[in-house]
Amino acid sequence: MQKELDRIKARIRKAATACGRDPASVRLVAVSKTKPAELVRRAITAGAAIIGENYIQEAREKFKALGDCTVHWHYIGHLQSNKAKYAVRIFDLIHSVDSLKLARELDKHAGKIDKVQQILIQVNISREKTKAGVDEARALELVRAISVFDNLSIRGLMTMPPYFDDPDRARPFFKALYDLRQQIRLARIPNVSMDELSMGMSGDFETAIEEGATLVRVGTAIFGARQ
Ligand SMILES: *Cc1c(COP(=O)(O)O)cnc(C)c1O
Repeated sequence: MQKELDRIKARIRKAATACGRDPASVRLVAVSKTKPAELVRRAITAGAAIIGENYIQEAREKFKALGDCTVHWHYIGHLQSNKAKYAVRIFDLIHSVDSLKLARELDKHAGKIDKVQQILIQVNISREKTKAGVDEARALELVRAISVFDNLSIRGLMTMPPYFDDPDRARPFFKALYDLRQQIRLARIPNVSMDELSMGMSGDFETAIEEGATLVRVGTAIFGARQ
């Protein structure tokens, strides 16, 4: 665990430095879906500062079991509106907001606990039918609509390109998310900051860093293969 984590962090630093970026501008989300709480505890002890989870029920159990740990929790999976109330209690950042309906529920439940929930807008940049995320062409409109909610704060964009053996093939999708962020920035929407780009996983995070990722979501390369 320690070795894997140290190795990934070193690769992140190296990739950032190689393209002239400050290594501190790229944060690692250790993705622990399907992995038991005790393994997550070891990752935290080994220096994982952000834990990424995909399933609400599983996350609730781990959050409870690891209540004594100082760590940030990020939600990266598909979120159903009826789970919004649990999500706002656990997560510092929700990467996967892709509809007004979900945003409305998150805003409502964040308000109930006096929280401003940080979110990213998930964009289906590859237009795969099976993938979550708002269409690129509708992203600006969605950001505008969500920006008016008092208890939500949009921090940037997230995407998940198709899987390729060759990470270079994911590059155009990372570039497209970067360009979309620039476009949204130009709209200067109040209450919206576009600082974060959540992109890159075990197989392609270095490419994502070259293309501007500020959050990389790495599971397998830290925790090993999932069942
Ligand atoms: C599982 C998952 C990851 C991590 O994938 P690995 O290939 O195991 O690094 C990243 N992002 C999302 C949205 C995921 O569901």
